[in-house]
Amino acid sequence: MTKILIIYTGGTIGMVNDPDNGMLIPFDFEQIKNNVPELSRLNYHLDVHSFEPVLDSSNMSPEIWKTLAELVYSNYDAYDGFVILHGSDTMAFTASALSFMLENLGKPVVLTGSQLPIGQIRTDAKENLITALEIAATKEDGKALVPEVCIYFDAQLFRGNRSIKYNIEKFEAFRSPNYSLLAEAGVHLQFHKNYILDTPEESLKLRTNFNSNIGVLKLYPGITPQAVLAITESKVDAIILETFGSGNTTTAEWFLDSLKEAIAKDKITVDISQCKKGSVQLGRYETSRELQQMGILSGYDLTFEATVTKLMFVMGLGLPIEESKKLMEKSLRGELTSE
Ligand code: ASP
Repeated sequence: MTKILIIYTGGTIGMVNDPDNGMLIPFDFEQIKNNVPELSRLNYHLDVHSFEPVLDSSNMSPEIWKTLAELVYSNYDAYDGFVILHGSDTMAFTASALSFMLENLGKPVVLTGSQLPIGQIRTDAKENLITALEIAATKEDGKALVPEVCIYFDAQLFRGNRSIKYNIEKFEAFRSPNYSLLAEAGVHLQFHKNYILDTPEESLKLRTNFNSNIGVLKLYPGITPQAVLAITESKVDAIILETFGSGNTTTAEWFLDSLKEAIAKDKITVDISQCKKGSVQLGRYETSRELQQMGILSGYDLTFEATVTKLMFVMGLGLPIEESKKLMEKSLRGELTSE
């Protein structure tokens, strides 16, 4: 019988209204189970590991990502797939982080959650949970069909490190602007096999050492030297530059000088766009030419979530800085397209 481990971290899916003030707070897995009697009709062996305490995902951290990755790693041989129930707010960060921590993943790790708690009549939780389990169980020729960390939400399966939380209101909470869906659920589960990673030849490796000492500099017209220097002169080890369009910034001398100084101090600086769709192209406009010349790295079409977690991961490997820089511009888990 197919065996799946459900890891319940918290999130709206299992929340209930606090009787004192009506606010949504995380609650235990029992009430998820009670609300989905269909679970016992699935032809899988399901085990549940519940976090204690359960969390709103705004309280996620690299430490908890590590716990999650270790849970998958230590149970890897015993299960065919993993479903992680998680709040949607930071699900894309967790999915990206896990994709880097779990190298040579050959089994599905499907994150899901919901926009409405499972106890509410119009909830999206049941479909999300049941289909996530089906995806985690799907095999072809004895191999998992989706050997990736992915997010399943509102009938769509996304590569985890390509996804972003896009909508607070609609059931379609996620999008993957720069990568095709991995699967769609209608009457049938339709897998887009050309876009799914191949099963790795080597065995699973766990790498959980993350360095989270990162600064983020989001540009806007009128940004002041104080705001820029607060990041570039700080003690961070890396800077994410969120730029305009295809990677452009102001060409004001004070601004470019502050970046040059940061780079001279070995701060890894990555340029990603504030636009959600498309790729950074350094040197396309005059307003990005100097960035390229001074050694700012292109984040290409990375999401913000993947950039943050990839930097933490790469810096945690403890490699010489030039090697770390090379890894940042290379696809490690299908998170970017550089050509
Ligand atoms: N605040 C919740 C969380 O991320 C939202 C959700 O689950 O959708 O835990």
